[in-house]
Amino acid sequence: MIIKTRSESEELLTMRTLNRRMDLTDKEKFHLSNMEKGYEGERKFDVLLEDLQEERYILCDLLLEINNSYFQIDTMIISQGVIHLLDNKYFQGDFYLEDDKLYSVTTKRERKNPVDQIKRSTTLFNQFLLKHKFKFLVEPLVIFNHPTFTLYQAPLSQPIIFPTQVHRLLNGWNSTPSKLNADHKKLAQTLLASHIPKNPFAQLPAYSYEGLQKGIYCDGCGSFHISKLRYDFLCNSCGRKEKIEEAILRNVREFKLLFPDRRITTQAIYEWCKVDVHKRTISRLLKNNYTMHGVNTGTYYS
Ligand SMILES: [Zn+2]
Repeated sequence: MIIKTRSESEELLTMRTLNRRMDLTDKEKFHLSNMEKGYEGERKFDVLLEDLQEERYILCDLLLEINNSYFQIDTMIISQGVIHLLDNKYFQGDFYLEDDKLYSVTTKRERKNPVDQIKRSTTLFNQFLLKHKFKFLVEPLVIFNHPTFTLYQAPLSQPIIFPTQVHRLLNGWNSTPSKLNADHKKLAQTLLASHIPKNPFAQLPAYSYEGLQKGIYCDGCGSFHISKLRYDFLCNSCGRKEKIEEAILRNVREFKLLFPDRRITTQAIYEWCKVDVHKRTISRLLKNNYTMHGVNTGTYYS
């Protein structure tokens, strides 16, 4: 049973829109592409977890804190006899381990060693359990689930699951009976209550309202070259159509995400969308989809 689902992090959503509206450095683009791949890999693994039998709690994307140390867990599976902490890595291609460090064979670029990361999370999670007076066995696993992934020089003792072993792992779980009790439930509730929704370590580039390109871009290809039809915007680059109302509301959500401290007003959204649409249309959309505060010229929405 999935009791905490996964969705794109605020960091990923913000980076996606910044990538459309400003020039990211190569390093920032690399970070964004890693986040995209990571998210894709997690979602692919989630699909496999849907077929898990027996009683289990599954919690995705937990961010916890203990003694001022934060730790993130991609997927936690609470079974009767063991809690699995899983870290999904969707790395593509050939990698090698050297002195406990992980490198890509083609680019020689070093990647954070996920085994070190999951070991740290496991230590901190055990402290978390102790603090909340729970006694459970905890087992960490790094899951490389991209079909093309290969790791050279991987010692046998590492808690690693390779793409060819994923199904065996799931079959193993399915053939292990699991019944959950009140303690498991209490733990799940404690975890949900302790989860920190806003990641303090999000790596976002500095950006300002003035520095970002205004306008509505195509939801498909990202092009700002769109024309207004009667009810839709038409992308001149890829031909995709999007309802005018939906496109404007999408821009409002972006505005809110990027500038949580700015007031959402008709004028602000008009300038942000920078498109040939009546202010009346924007007002109506805001009224229908957001809560209105204030009167007349002081009106804003949340
Ligand atoms: Zn397009």
